Amino acid sequence: MATSLQGGRVYLVGAGPGDVGLLTLRAVECLREADFVLYDYLTSPRALDFARPDAERFRVTQLPGPHPERWQQITAKVVDEARKGKVVAHLKGGDPLVFGRGAEEAEALRAAGVPYEIVPGVTAALAAAACTEIPLTHRAFASAVALVTGHEDPGKGDARLDWDALAKFPGTLAVYMGVTQLGHITHELMARGMPPDTPAALVYRASAGEQRTVTAPLGELDESVRRAGLSRPSLVLVGPAVGAKPAASWFEARPLAGLRVVVTRPRDQALVFARRLELLGAVPLVLPVLEARPPADWGPADAAIGRLRAGAYDWVAVTSANGVAGLLGRLRTLGLDARAFGRARLAAIGPATAAALAETRLVPDLVPVDDPRSESLAEQLIEHCRGARVLLAQAAQGRGLLRERLAAAASVDVAPVYEQVAVADGSHEVFDRLRRGEVDVVTLTSPNIATAFLAACDEATRRRLREGPTRLVANSERLGRLLADQGYPVHVAPDPTADGLIAGLTAVAAAEKADK
Ligand code: SAH
Repeated sequence: MATSLQGGRVYLVGAGPGDVGLLTLRAVECLREADFVLYDYLTSPRALDFARPDAERFRVTQLPGPHPERWQQITAKVVDEARKGKVVAHLKGGDPLVFGRGAEEAEALRAAGVPYEIVPGVTAALAAAACTEIPLTHRAFASAVALVTGHEDPGKGDARLDWDALAKFPGTLAVYMGVTQLGHITHELMARGMPPDTPAALVYRASAGEQRTVTAPLGELDESVRRAGLSRPSLVLVGPAVGAKPAASWFEARPLAGLRVVVTRPRDQALVFARRLELLGAVPLVLPVLEARPPADWGPADAAIGRLRAGAYDWVAVTSANGVAGLLGRLRTLGLDARAFGRARLAAIGPATAAALAETRLVPDLVPVDDPRSESLAEQLIEHCRGARVLLAQAAQGRGLLRERLAAAASVDVAPVYEQVAVADGSHEVFDRLRRGEVDVVTLTSPNIATAFLAACDEATRRRLREGPTRLVANSERLGRLLADQGYPVHVAPDPTADGLIAGLTAVAAAEKADK
């Protein structure tokens, strides 16, 4: 491996404030290269998705000792792993050199003779500014900004905060680690002459879907923050420029702001959808309840593939992205490629299936417009394939509807190219959040998913889904009726695509806002 030639080294990487989109490109490059990744509670778990699947992931809380003293052990671990010849990425929240002990770690690496690189990151103050629209500097209000710690190191002796200087600072104070000492901080500033009506704010989890902001005059900030019940990690901003914050920033005004949404689709498909939700302001909670697995028996599918190669079909219809992956994956395993389709034409049930085909460079001849449901695919397909021979690639336990409708007009074979397996069990962390009532909406995108999800819920959660406040959003009338029959109130999305589901969630979010 290249690493043993080049030797171990360390990337001290600023991982930004939380939102995965605020990682730098260099951070992603380092993650892709790393053999060993250290991270802490401020790191977005999504950042770890950029590490190689075979890289070792290590959460710093796996090391012994309480938080403030643990950093020496963290540094020792980093040095250790690098000395074994590994490329180590140490992810630090925000920027490594802003209250991140980056200098201490670099010093230890120099002393140990380990090569290193420091990658800057978006520090909390910059993220808080962008996401609340509190300018850190402003031509009218603030010509300087100070990054200040609100939690002084007792070991630092004389290097205590100069409250006199801070109270007179001609600009914006950005106080890190200040929430637990907030009363003390505001008191000190006012005691040294800062006016109690100076605009101030506390920003909790800047850049994340959970972001909350409290604004108040300096003299009332502590009381307001306690009332709102906000804790770490939060950044305190003080100064005249804080008064320039608009009532709702672009970030706070996003259509799904703060909406906690459980996404029950298989993980691969959930991640892209979850990111779309995140960019609209939601807090997506990914809880896969079904995963696609290879069928227990490839026999029937392989036989169908054999007939396909012999030119036995006029049409091949695929009813899901999993179907595309299953069929194309099987062709590859058999040493075949898309030429196996020969002259057969391709039908996709909807835009997501068509997109999955497009990724393999296949362009479907038929995608039902406007209404990607089996009923609609059947109708349109029947028109095209009267008297023709059709192969349906679908789940082993897929719906019989399409086959039955088609069989009336054409000769139909089924190739079972995947199986759906229930994978949710009540111990998943998202189920805890459901039980605690920390979820606003659960999205359900097929009857199989709905059944598996409800089966994994406990009775208390099911009651919450029946009586509120947690709501269900379904992606089709059929699923909506199925749930309603079981006593669950459900909001039905205008169409079964990702766009339709998002429109449904937007309607639910707007209704909740109107209720408040
Ligand atoms: N190196 C980090 C700071 C680490 S100190 C950086 O550059 O941002 C930890 C403190 O950073 C927290 O107590 C909090 O004050 C602040 N912080 C980190 N991430 C934050 C976030 N997303 N929102 C608000 N404050 C945050």
